[in-house]
Amino acid sequence: MKYRRERNLTPEPGRTAVTGSPRRTIAVANQKGGVAKTTTVASLGVAIADLGRRVLLVDLDPQACLTFSLGLDPEGLELSVHDVLLGRVSAGMAVHATGDGPDLLPSTIDLAGCETVLLTRTGREYALRSALEEFADDYDLVLLDCPPSLGVLTINALTAADELLIPLQCETLSHRGVGQLLDTVHDVQRLTNRDLQVLGVLPTLFDARTSHGRAVLADVADRYALKVLEPAIAKSIRFAEAPATGRSILRTSDRTPGAQAYRELARWLAGECPGPPAVLEIPDVALPAGAEAGE
Ligand code: ADP
Ligand code: MG
Repeated sequence: MKYRRERNLTPEPGRTAVTGSPRRTIAVANQKGGVAKTTTVASLGVAIADLGRRVLLVDLDPQACLTFSLGLDPEGLELSVHDVLLGRVSAGMAVHATGDGPDLLPSTIDLAGCETVLLTRTGREYALRSALEEFADDYDLVLLDCPPSLGVLTINALTAADELLIPLQCETLSHRGVGQLLDTVHDVQRLTNRDLQVLGVLPTLFDARTSHGRAVLADVADRYALKVLEPAIAKSIRFAEAPATGRSILRTSDRTPGAQAYRELARWLAGECPGPPAVLEIPDVALPAGAEAGE
């Protein structure tokens, strides 16, 4: 593969270190920005908390959009995930309750410098996994909101996670980079977290009126042998409006089809409906010339 890059990761220590991990941890990652990672973490988190599960959300993006969208002011926080990853405080000391249900381990802009410091440390890939061990009995589900890069923070998330969910905006060329993300997953599986599983691709910002989005999905699913999760999350202006209010779209516009789609996925993740969800029915539509995957 042309885009293959070897990573310099610290090999996994004995698995006994994670016997106390929370029941299920899902990383939401895609190094492309604007594909609805943060929206997915916030919406699924609230929907699963509404089902009575104990949910922790972790903001791993220095831009702190998840933190902001759940009503916390990142600039007013004394402690954040940055202090936790550097081992200054325990994760429990930095966790906040939110008005919408899930607890949040927030981020601040300080996290931007965290990668540089972590890079100098042995076992840097395990900082998050170790920090979350104290929550073994506290949460049913932990969702990790990754930054738009494949750096140390995303590697920490993939090392701490049981599963990876890949939000994908269904546009021409939006699948570029999926191969690179999967290469990173394979490196993580080989070196730092052999149990990591890929849950599948979640179609986001989906426009059901065109067949093009489905063609993009068909191409990605086929090329990378990935499951495409259903229901797709339809595009709606309501999603753009919600973060500014500090409330989840499930509180401000719950009837929006995209909000209902997140609730359906949440029921599946919480084991309340039979799964896995059906793979989207994909018609035989060709992508326009020049839009094929490949780096
Ligand atoms: P990421 O975390 O991948 O960068 P975000 O979750 O921040 O992406 O989403 C990027 C932008 O797209 C935000 O303005 C968000 O409100 C908007 N958005 C997310 N999901 C939808 C959707 N289904 N329909 C319309 N806009 C959306
Ligand atoms: Mg984000």
